[in-house]
Amino acid sequence: MYHHTKIVATLGPASSDPETLERMITAGVNVVRMNFSHGKPEDHLNRAKLVREAAAKVGRTVGILGDLQGPKVRVGTFEKGNTTLAKGAQFILDANCEVGNDKCVGLDYKDLPHDVSPGTILLLDDGKITLEVEKVKGAEIHTKVIQGGVLSNNKGINRKGGGLSAPALTAKDMDDIKTAALMDVDFLAVSFPKSSADMYMAKALMRAAGSNALIIAKIERSEAVEKSALEEILNSCDGIMVARGDLAVEVGEAAVPALQKRMIRKARELNKLTITATQMMESMISSPVPTRAEVSDVANAVLDGTDAVMLSAETATGKFPIETVEAMVRIAIEAEKSNPITLDQNFLDRSFNRIDQSIAMAALLTAHHMGAKAIASLTQSGSTALWMSRLNSGVPIFALTPLPETVRKLALMREVYPILTPSQEGFDDRDRLLRDAEKLLLKAKVVKQGDIVVFTAGEPTGMSGGTNSLKVVRIGEHH
Ligand code: PGA
Ligand code: MN
Repeated sequence: MYHHTKIVATLGPASSDPETLERMITAGVNVVRMNFSHGKPEDHLNRAKLVREAAAKVGRTVGILGDLQGPKVRVGTFEKGNTTLAKGAQFILDANCEVGNDKCVGLDYKDLPHDVSPGTILLLDDGKITLEVEKVKGAEIHTKVIQGGVLSNNKGINRKGGGLSAPALTAKDMDDIKTAALMDVDFLAVSFPKSSADMYMAKALMRAAGSNALIIAKIERSEAVEKSALEEILNSCDGIMVARGDLAVEVGEAAVPALQKRMIRKARELNKLTITATQMMESMISSPVPTRAEVSDVANAVLDGTDAVMLSAETATGKFPIETVEAMVRIAIEAEKSNPITLDQNFLDRSFNRIDQSIAMAALLTAHHMGAKAIASLTQSGSTALWMSRLNSGVPIFALTPLPETVRKLALMREVYPILTPSQEGFDDRDRLLRDAEKLLLKAKVVKQGDIVVFTAGEPTGMSGGTNSLKVVRIGEHH
């Protein structure tokens, strides 16, 4: 059996040759992430092509996620590539500085001096260096080094407590959205959104570029985890990424585990997707085995109910990309065994008034109580499978669809196994479709004679949102 929790792997120099890609996909990668913070548009376009070829070659479904860089505020470059900041020293962040030295460095976000005041704490390089603002003089931010270290070119700057005013979509992001649409990505991740407005903007630009990708909000700003903001953002997108790297810097690392649990719970309640990201298997960048703490982190994210766990540098630049994916799969499968069935407790709290949604809920409850081997959902948009996968019934959901783009979107959903069916053009005989679906499941060895399968389907067939019937079948029995 496969892992129910999906794996997102970031591509980079360590994972861009066809052979490594094929091995990573075979090992269990469901979605690849292309990070627009690195590389040129043509690199991403080429990589997308390689991924699709590799997936076809090994016969697996792989979705592609394009991740926008967003307004990450960074220092400029140094004459010598870096400088060493000593505790207690004075250091100036200067929007007008061209090349940095041991007294000052430039800023890519020229408005930063307006966003800080004496007492503001700035965290550089993911919190490795801490500066306290003493005064602001025009374009210059005068600071005192609280925590020193080596500061090198283009390292990120976060403001403790959040509150930077840079808009979520930069001019570069808008160009990258066009590239993402050309690549035909299945998911678009938006970095540093503060509100639903940022998400609607990204979605509108993506649709204008001709893409139907699902839109993912990266939750990595302290403003975005406020209760009402989080809910508003969730309602404006298809899913969220628990982006622990930047989030930890803004809210303090100790607050992140509880936030992760709250975000995943809320997202599932609102029928949204979740990806848990950053440093999950960090030590495997240079080690062939994970630490015990990493094993627990991945297992806990699985138990929190995340749809997917994500790898960043581990697969982009690490020494052991394949071993890392294999380890993640092992941990997920083991953790899933002790995942509690949440159907009975959570079921009565769900409210739904759509016909297709009530069929989805009825299928779950029926499958659970009948001890079904599988739920098989004949779907166009994939929504039936999404709704079912928000509750944990312990029965795998097979989503059968004739649409390749739906198959790739389903690749991210927990407990959902997409199967591409032959085109249903001209078919409107529901029973014939169900018999064909049964044959497909038998052929894929998902079920055997005598097993119970719960089917959902729509009539007339081939209509998005048209699911209106439920059929319980014992395989092999005449029906
Ligand atoms: P990044 O986002 O890797 O693009 O910074 C993820 C995170 O911040 O955790
Ligand atoms: Mn980030």
